[in-house]
Amino acid sequence: MDTIIPGVHRISAGYVNAYIIDGDEGVTLVDTLLPKREGSVAKALGQIGRSLSDVAAIVLTHSHADHSGSAAAIKDASGAVVYVSAGDVAAVRGEVKPPPPPIADRFPFLKPIMRLLPGPAPVVVEHVIGEGIDGRLPEDLQVIDTPGHTPGHVCFRLDRGDGLLFVGDAAVAKKGEITRGWMNRIEPTFDASLRHIAEFDFEMACFGHSDPITSGASAAFARFATKLG
Ligand SMILES: [Zn+2]
Repeated sequence: MDTIIPGVHRISAGYVNAYIIDGDEGVTLVDTLLPKREGSVAKALGQIGRSLSDVAAIVLTHSHADHSGSAAAIKDASGAVVYVSAGDVAAVRGEVKPPPPPIADRFPFLKPIMRLLPGPAPVVVEHVIGEGIDGRLPEDLQVIDTPGHTPGHVCFRLDRGDGLLFVGDAAVAKKGEITRGWMNRIEPTFDASLRHIAEFDFEMACFGHSDPITSGASAAFARFATKLG
């Protein structure tokens, strides 16, 4: 576990990151790692003197199993309230299968394999969320709609320090600069979401699949957005 700023911690398991926001009203998790990783989350919480039962809220950037996978188990252990965007809520509730990651387009042989994999356990979702600040979200998190990677992908801006963005899989960082990452396509919807992120102000950015950018993060998104044409 790494501490990003006081009260915000990264949990890495395999190739994916989830984040802990430690607040006065309990713990908020941003994403939940792959299925059966609740033990990794519990261990990280233990390192900050918390436990699974302290998790009050789970906010998901999107429906893919490496982000939503342990949500059901953590909710069972904690009674946490779950927040998911309108575009991804049916997949998180288990009503439909999550869309395959865009990388499956490049490697078509993956698609039948992915269809055979069990999806994450269905999650009861209390709050369907979308762009803006609606007052229901923990820690006054601001939702930024960033469709592309999935239809309902969202980022979350936390108003602590000089602002911190939870990017999910909308992009990754490489040597402090923004790239699409292997999991995103060059398409207008994806580009529009990257431009939209660049409209916001935040010093730090935390990603689903890379190390964070710890200063000048919104400027890095703005530099990338100017290259999109
Ligand atoms: Zn994803």
